[in-house]
Amino acid sequence: MAEHYKPVKYKAWEMSLEERFQEVYPPLSERDATVEANRCLFCYDAPCMDACPTHIDIPTFIKKIATGNVKGSARTILESNLLGATCARVCPVQELCEGACVLEHDHKPIAIGRLQRYATDYAIERNIKFFEKGKPNGKKVAIVGAGPAGLSCAGELAKLGFDVTVYERQKLAGGLDTYGIVVFREPIEVSLREVKMIEDLGVNVKTGVNVGKDITFEELIEKNDAVFVSIGLGDVPNMEIPGENLPGVHDGLEFIAETKTQPLNTIKFGKRVAIIGAGNTAIDAATIARRLGAERVNMIYRRSEAEMTAYHFEYEFALGEGVSFMFLTQPIEVVGNGRVEGLKCIRMDLGTPDQSGRRAPVPVPNSEFIVECDMVIKAIGQKKHTNVMQKLATFGVQETKGYIAVDTTTNRTANPKIFAGGDCVRSIGEASTVMAVQDGKIAARAIHEQLVGKGELAHAGKCCK
Ligand SMILES: Cc1cc2nc3c(=O)[nH]c(=O)nc-3n(C[C@H](O)[C@H](O)[C@H](O)COP(=O)(O)OP(=O)(O)OC[C@H]3O[C@@H](n4cnc5c(N)ncnc54)[C@H](O)[C@@H]3O)c2cc1C
Ligand code: SF4
Repeated sequence: MAEHYKPVKYKAWEMSLEERFQEVYPPLSERDATVEANRCLFCYDAPCMDACPTHIDIPTFIKKIATGNVKGSARTILESNLLGATCARVCPVQELCEGACVLEHDHKPIAIGRLQRYATDYAIERNIKFFEKGKPNGKKVAIVGAGPAGLSCAGELAKLGFDVTVYERQKLAGGLDTYGIVVFREPIEVSLREVKMIEDLGVNVKTGVNVGKDITFEELIEKNDAVFVSIGLGDVPNMEIPGENLPGVHDGLEFIAETKTQPLNTIKFGKRVAIIGAGNTAIDAATIARRLGAERVNMIYRRSEAEMTAYHFEYEFALGEGVSFMFLTQPIEVVGNGRVEGLKCIRMDLGTPDQSGRRAPVPVPNSEFIVECDMVIKAIGQKKHTNVMQKLATFGVQETKGYIAVDTTTNRTANPKIFAGGDCVRSIGEASTVMAVQDGKIAARAIHEQLVGKGELAHAGKCCK
């Protein structure tokens, strides 16, 4: 990787708290972007494009950067992915477009993500509007949840002339882009600018409305021609071990959300932090704790390195931040007198594969020990929305392992009026922002075909030059 594409070197002792929470990768300068764009071979049948779940025309947008047409480049990106600025920052590009780039063989794939960020930031910072609300077609759609799946579906439907209302239970829209993705990968402003772009297409985003409590699913289904459910997943589940209610035990998602919404110097953190889990939330919480100033951060995971759900580059990033990993270790009790003083753990061994196909961890007898810590962060995944599932079942919606079951070519549920997408349907494999965006697009296309008839979706909505 060329020197100027490396992340800013992290020297905590030289940086203020605010500087430590700046984006890890600096924006590309015009010169660097042009040089990088000119390295692209503009492949015919470009494999990078196939590897992108939203099928952005990558060679075309890069060519436009190479020829100085940055605005046109942004339009090419946003035509396929309205949340292109977020995806440019959070996509696991090593596993997707950059991993498929023909130059990957020389270990120098094109920096597609950073070029995408360069083009989309250019357009968003200048408030350039590429699309307009489509000619009204008289149909109404309600969307439950304003994360990437809901926003993508809303934007695509608005371009097609639908009257769209998005209901979001949080104070701010954006889902995990706003509250969950660590601030030094995606600042909250990027997510909120995308929400504004969707609202500018005429979408009515109603925040602070919990569907199922403040308004019923019955009402939404009755008063709309279609409903798209994109509620993601829920809170971090309990660990079900003694002592987990002691002061000093924190929820990983809440901890991350604090750093996105509160002044950094007001966030409480421990000197010695134990993080339980080894997925997205755990890695993010661990790196945040380090950057806030925690002296020792131990990630505790009951399986081995090979079974971690976090991507390898995230693991390497955490190691580089000084985070330690304790594999094959299962917490069994939070210990302390009135507040957290340690985490009692037991060593594990790997047995035969379980339902997930991974080798099941088995406790090693008499191997208990204490990890000293003054803060425990639980980050062992997210709960499913069982109440919503039970309610949707009364409308004939089916489930797979607690997730909403959909036909993946349309994202339609067993009830033809109800569609769903994003994390709440992803019962197998990895979940990511870009997959949620694509689900929203697929559902918008299917809703359009069902209610209006087949039409040209890709270039729907008038393009502003
Ligand atoms: C800590 C963390 C870090 C991650 N990092 C990355 C990353 O770097 N790259 C990547 O690609 N992916 C990452 N992911 C995964 C990615 O964030 C998700 O796959 C993506 O956000 C899913 O989008 P969604 O729209 O389905 O759900 P969400 O983003 O969860 O949005 C769902 C929305 O629905 C709302 N909602 C729920 N119930 C109701 C209701 N009853 N009424 C109204 N609103 C409701 C919620 O408040 C929320 O705003 C990360 C996930 C986590 C947890
Ligand atoms: S595969 Fe690589 S070189 Fe080919 S078009 Fe895509 S980014 Fe350019």
